[in-house]
Amino acid sequence: MKEFGWHLDNSYTRLPEPFFAKTDPEAAPSPELVVFNQPLAESLGLDVESLESEEGVDILAGNKIPEGAAPIAQAYAGHQFGHFTMLGDGRAVLLGEQLTQGNRVDIQLKGSGRTPFSRGGDGRAALGPMLREFIMSEAMHSLGIPTTRSLAVVVTGAPVYREETLEGAVLTRIAASHIRVGTFQYAAARQVDEDLRTLADYTIERHYPEVAKDPNPYVSLLQKVMEKQASLIAKWQLVGFIHGVMNTDNMAISGETIDYGPCAFMDMYDPATVFSSIDREGRYAYGNQPGIAEWNLARFAETLLPLFDEDSEKAIEIATQTLSGFARMYHEHWLSGMRGKLGLFNEEQQDVTLVKDLLKIMKDNKADYTNTFRALTVGDLNAMPMCKTPEFEEWHARWKSRLERQPESEVAMKQLMQDSNPSIIPRNHRVEEALNAATEGDFSVLEELLAALEAPYAYTAEQEKYVAPSISTTPYRTFCG
Ligand code: AMP
Ligand code: MG
Ligand code: MG
Repeated sequence: MKEFGWHLDNSYTRLPEPFFAKTDPEAAPSPELVVFNQPLAESLGLDVESLESEEGVDILAGNKIPEGAAPIAQAYAGHQFGHFTMLGDGRAVLLGEQLTQGNRVDIQLKGSGRTPFSRGGDGRAALGPMLREFIMSEAMHSLGIPTTRSLAVVVTGAPVYREETLEGAVLTRIAASHIRVGTFQYAAARQVDEDLRTLADYTIERHYPEVAKDPNPYVSLLQKVMEKQASLIAKWQLVGFIHGVMNTDNMAISGETIDYGPCAFMDMYDPATVFSSIDREGRYAYGNQPGIAEWNLARFAETLLPLFDEDSEKAIEIATQTLSGFARMYHEHWLSGMRGKLGLFNEEQQDVTLVKDLLKIMKDNKADYTNTFRALTVGDLNAMPMCKTPEFEEWHARWKSRLERQPESEVAMKQLMQDSNPSIIPRNHRVEEALNAATEGDFSVLEELLAALEAPYAYTAEQEKYVAPSISTTPYRTFCG
């Protein structure tokens, strides 16, 4: 018997029965490990060699259940593109919670077969989308953005049928938890207040224990989740990340980015940017993300109403009052991040205008979002399409004089900008290139991309190859897996 280093607990299975269904992963005929996150495995206290062995790969494929696991599929609901639906893990199984260094993290297999929540689906995932989640989630982590992590991708040896026949794969996902806004919606829809309270108490204990003794811990829970989301969405906006499916079931209560489907990074700055082929009306466009987060949080608040106050009118008043703080929270996170991107240490009244004027110039000149801030950081103004325009020259002079009105040195300013502006992001065409090679059996392109994305603020010469935006003239479209 190998020493894998599993220290699994299953606290979620101690919630009331309707919150989950005991479900084993389905067997994979001939599993093969194709990507493995060694540093993550080590940080979880897992033994790398054992996991890479045949027995380990069987665990990552769902063929063997690790010691201490109690596999379940979680129940949840959600608003999908604004429409309420009962959902649940239709193609994922939670093996358990790994306890490590005082932390508790979910170990989930995604793409491991049908569950009681699969509805019409096959419970499977194709290799391309699982590798895509691996790349994007690890890139987000390296960018310093809260996110679920990816431990491994295994090909199953079984085909999956989409528009064509594809190779099946299982992703091992690590998350602070998989409790979603949709989990609360599920609890609220069942109208058993006791179960709702149990879920809320569990969530507080797991993620926000500091509010447990507050006068109304449930209002504090809403407040905490709002703060986490305000900070998270600001971080997305600051790097140009577009989630693509901000349905309430894809919003984690922990504040981690979750469920990488048709997500992508914006090239040219335009708030109307949408990549997802299923988002025909642009509900989840870049510029809409903060507003959608607020909408989702309102759905979360609604579920908590019975816990806010027995008097339903009073409960609504509390919810409305609390939610009204979101816009300001978000704006503060965003503005403070933008100050960093422009090398500003102190605060001036006119900073918002300075930022907004730059964004307008970027939009008018179809400037690349990441590369504009990169060019400002390295002082390579010629790299910008607008560098010779009077608008930009005026803006640039204003920015320079703004910088002179702060005591910090130029060196410190440059450092702040480097730390705030990624020199590389997972460019759409680079991600596609890596996925195409991998589905043909060549993983070297993917490995190289993953390695580059580990240090997005490094400003090294080797990164040059990943700097150019997509050269394609047709709009980039992402698809669900
Ligand atoms: P997503 O769009 O990935 O957030 O998934 C929305 C819902 O569809 C979730 O309940 C998933 O578990 C479910 N789902 C997605 N793909 C499949 C599939 N291939 N088989 C069964 N359920 C699925
Ligand atoms: Mg989802
Ligand atoms: Mg999903």
